[in-house]
Amino acid sequence: MAEYTDHDGGAGEEVPDLSDSDDDEQWEWTEESSDTSIVCLFCDRSLNSISDTLQHCLAEHDVHIPDLVKKFSLDDYGYIKMINYIRSKKCSGESLLQCANNGVFPWDSDDYMRPVLPDDPLLQIDLEDLCGVEAMVLGQACGGQAADLLQRTQQAEERALRSEEALARAMEDLHKLKLLAQGLVLNADTSRGSPACGAIAELREEEDEAYFDSYGHYSIHEEMLKDKVRTESYRDFMHLNQDVFKDKVVLDVGCGTGILSMFAARAGARKVIGVDQSEIIYQAMDIVRSNNLHETITLIKGRIEEVTLPVEKVDIIISEWMGYFLLFESMLDSVLYARDMYLAEGGSVYPDGCNISLAAVGDTEKHQDRIAFWEDVYGFQMACMKKAVVPEAVVQVLNPDTLISEPAVIQMFDCNKVCLSELEFTSDFTLKVTKTAQCTAVVGYFDIFFDRSCGNKVMFSTGPQCTKTHWKQTLFLIENPIPVQSGEDLQGKITVRKNRKDPRALLITLEIADRKQTYSVQ
Ligand code: SAH
Repeated sequence: MAEYTDHDGGAGEEVPDLSDSDDDEQWEWTEESSDTSIVCLFCDRSLNSISDTLQHCLAEHDVHIPDLVKKFSLDDYGYIKMINYIRSKKCSGESLLQCANNGVFPWDSDDYMRPVLPDDPLLQIDLEDLCGVEAMVLGQACGGQAADLLQRTQQAEERALRSEEALARAMEDLHKLKLLAQGLVLNADTSRGSPACGAIAELREEEDEAYFDSYGHYSIHEEMLKDKVRTESYRDFMHLNQDVFKDKVVLDVGCGTGILSMFAARAGARKVIGVDQSEIIYQAMDIVRSNNLHETITLIKGRIEEVTLPVEKVDIIISEWMGYFLLFESMLDSVLYARDMYLAEGGSVYPDGCNISLAAVGDTEKHQDRIAFWEDVYGFQMACMKKAVVPEAVVQVLNPDTLISEPAVIQMFDCNKVCLSELEFTSDFTLKVTKTAQCTAVVGYFDIFFDRSCGNKVMFSTGPQCTKTHWKQTLFLIENPIPVQSGEDLQGKITVRKNRKDPRALLITLEIADRKQTYSVQ
């Protein structure tokens, strides 16, 4: 395995809830704004246009707004303040005229610049137009000018009406799209089936394309082959236990460049079948032939879940399926599928044992750099960014000097026995603290064993105390560090499950002291 990353996959945990986003609020707001009715300044009546409103104010409340504007020489700001004052005080037309007659404008404060009604159409009209419209309404303007104004007003109202209709249609289309997207997400989930532990076998080819594409490029294989801890462990296991391989039929699940198939052939296997869905298998075909192993090794392109093998059963299954934190990528699912489908009675899967361990980390400097950093960025507060940083597990090589506890094994798998549903699990753990410090993170890693029937057992560890591998370690940052004392038992609980939206990614929940955090490994 190597560093498959599907950046499109996303880390989100659940189906995105398309119905409760902020967008909704905006849509509702937009809908309201599309309503053209104008509430009268002095009563609750709604009118359909500016001119109707002005007419109504004059006829019913005896207030001639444009006259007031002229009388008090109101500029745009004065007019806006007056409208907001009337709306906020709910004053009568009479009292308004009284204030105005005193020569004191009670709306002089800037507080009245704030609209009382959202999108108040009376605040959106140009003062010149207002007086013009009113002139026309009252028949005070002379002929041609009034006709021109009337035409302009009608045109503006028609334009507004057409815009409203277009907006309503767009809103309806958006609503349909929203429903469609919701349906697609929900259906996609059902078609993958539940529980998610069976999801890899059920993935459609196009859904898993990015994964296999990542293995099509030579660089990922170069990195794996150059990882000596990994590759030499597989080689040593086969070469030092040739009796296990002598005359056996071997299946190599995910053969990549064919390296494990060739080790098996050299170790004495009678027949080796290598299967890989990625394009790298075409290179493997050349490689096998160049090494004159094509009579022993048969290579098949395809997903192990879909290919037809030239044999019914095999004696041994070998595979290098491990991902970050062991289970990322979920390739073990495919190995278990092959085991249940093709392994003969008494046969073995290698590696046969693996375990996952955790340990406490105290590295205040790194914690500052990753977390406290956001509290003051060039003098700005960006603390909200911590909420984005913390939930992403970090794959990195850990300085072993920062370990502050003994490791604790949280899970062990026997690859010959484990079943799919056990790959999602919860386990309690205790970390024995070895140094008084602030626990700033928890580190996770795995060990691999070639054990069963082996006279020469082989194992390797991806832990921080051992030679580094391309799996590095997986670090789970703790937002608020936990003060711990040497000798103390730090209790915790871990839950490992697949991300329902991307079954090749993992969601890991850590409960430790009184902290609880879910992390994604992707
Ligand atoms: N065995 C090789 C490559 C390991 S990387 C080595 O040790 O160097 C894992 C490989 O498994 C990738 O090439 C990937 O394409 C392949 N693979 C993963 N899942 C598979 C599946 N379900 N069917 C076929 N190939 C798979």
